[in-house]
Amino acid sequence: MTTVNSVLGPLDSADLGHTLMHEHIMVAAAGVYRDYPELLGPNRVERAVARLTAAKEDGIDTLVDATTLDLGRDVKLLAEVSRQSGVQIIACTGWWLDVPRFFAGVSPDQLAQAFVREIEEGIGDTGIKAGILKSASDVAGVTPEEEIVLRAVARAHHQTGVPIMLHSYSPGQVGRQQLPIMREEGVDLGRIKMDHSNDTTDVEYLTWLLEQGCYLGLDRYPGRTTSSRARTRTMKALIDAGFADRLCPSHDGIVLSILGGGDFEHAEAVRLEYNPHGYLYLNKVVLPELREMGVPEETLRSLFVDVPRRFFEGR
Ligand SMILES: [Zn+2]
Repeated sequence: MTTVNSVLGPLDSADLGHTLMHEHIMVAAAGVYRDYPELLGPNRVERAVARLTAAKEDGIDTLVDATTLDLGRDVKLLAEVSRQSGVQIIACTGWWLDVPRFFAGVSPDQLAQAFVREIEEGIGDTGIKAGILKSASDVAGVTPEEEIVLRAVARAHHQTGVPIMLHSYSPGQVGRQQLPIMREEGVDLGRIKMDHSNDTTDVEYLTWLLEQGCYLGLDRYPGRTTSSRARTRTMKALIDAGFADRLCPSHDGIVLSILGGGDFEHAEAVRLEYNPHGYLYLNKVVLPELREMGVPEETLRSLFVDVPRRFFEGR
């Protein structure tokens, strides 16, 4: 077994259960939840608890919350929502794409120590520890500032053994820039999950990533750039190619976000039109499609239970 930090304390990796590996309770910007909570609409805790309670009732035991500080991370909110809903939540440390200018004057080793502190001692003064590391690069490739974060994440990983999720831009094959840097830092690529990999249907590129040893986050559902069905066909192709032991389907779903134009009702309507099932879209839409395509039940279970457990255990 491996101990995984959840927002309510240490968790045995054997108890992760059915796990969604890339979700968000809230997405905003640093400090917004504390200082401008009204921008996230009314009844925030209640809305998040309602959505997670529904997920729990449909068999979802654990969410990895991919919200970094620059995305507005608030681990007290996560803890409260976890306590009330019964869904286990794993918080992350690291950084997303809003890298501040002053990072140009920070060394990877300095930043790594901040990430290590959030894993070993806790985030701020909450005592709540992060359970996964995150770094991000997008359409511009790995920028010089993002490379500082990427190397810091690698070094924090070496000190803590906590696994790594990398936000990537799969249509631009940005993993081809991220992985060599991680290799240069001496990271076992089997401890890395390359996220948003199902924003492409390029099975050749995805197979290359898998051959490097990493896991793939197939974590955009229903997704915007590619149809949901095409994403599922790509997943099936990777399962057929023998990679079911390293695929992590998830939604990149969000309950609370900044309101579009300030109109809460309209924002909710848009969200429901995009995805009426929230964290249950995979259960309600994608799993039936995979069954229809002939994927055995034990493989489906393994994608959500065994693969996340193995990822955290590093075996
Ligand atoms: Zn995300």
